[in-house]
Amino acid sequence: MSKTDPRQLICELCRQFYTQGWVSGTGGGISIKEGDRVYMAPSGVQKERLQPEDLFVLDGSGKVLEAPAGNLSACAPLFFNAFDIRGAGAVMHSHSINALMATLISGDEFRVTHLEMMKGIAGHGYHDELVVPIIENTAHEHDLADSMGEAIRAYPKAFAVLVRRHGVYVWGKDWAEAKRHAECYDYLFEAAVKMRQLGVDASVPPVERAEAAQ
Ligand code: ZN
Repeated sequence: MSKTDPRQLICELCRQFYTQGWVSGTGGGISIKEGDRVYMAPSGVQKERLQPEDLFVLDGSGKVLEAPAGNLSACAPLFFNAFDIRGAGAVMHSHSINALMATLISGDEFRVTHLEMMKGIAGHGYHDELVVPIIENTAHEHDLADSMGEAIRAYPKAFAVLVRRHGVYVWGKDWAEAKRHAECYDYLFEAAVKMRQLGVDASVPPVERAEAAQ
């Protein structure tokens, strides 16, 4: 099994995400699509202890081809949203505290501008406005699928959907872009929350703020 085998990658990335606090308490995870095969972890497992043979394998339509022990992740229809609607090659779901906090300081959209790390999100520059839609949480993860799908279609520039008081789904064209996006979005969520604590609105360009103070 090579280092870029999706089974190995998922296990390695889950260990990294665990140390970042993104998949603790068995929540969250990552799914990779390679060709017509989709790989994802079972539901409710310790993500940092995941082994390659623990993974579910599905085809492009969501049919389970290989079922190890346990149940398929409740995130499956949400991962498939990004695969199907946006042609993603990898999707990660994080229960990051930064993502959760970002949903508490925002309405239906998380907005920032003039932050260097925005450049890590495909199609965004420093002077742009970066917007992530926020959907309301539901009692069961799979019930988020419809509202997530609507949000993905309504925000074609976004590579993420925040879930209020829950976390975030982030994707990219492949695992490397999904990882970069996840890291940059998380940084921006944390920055916006900390800026708010200082009384600075991250959605307002710095020039406008200087003028407003006069
Ligand atoms: Zn979740």
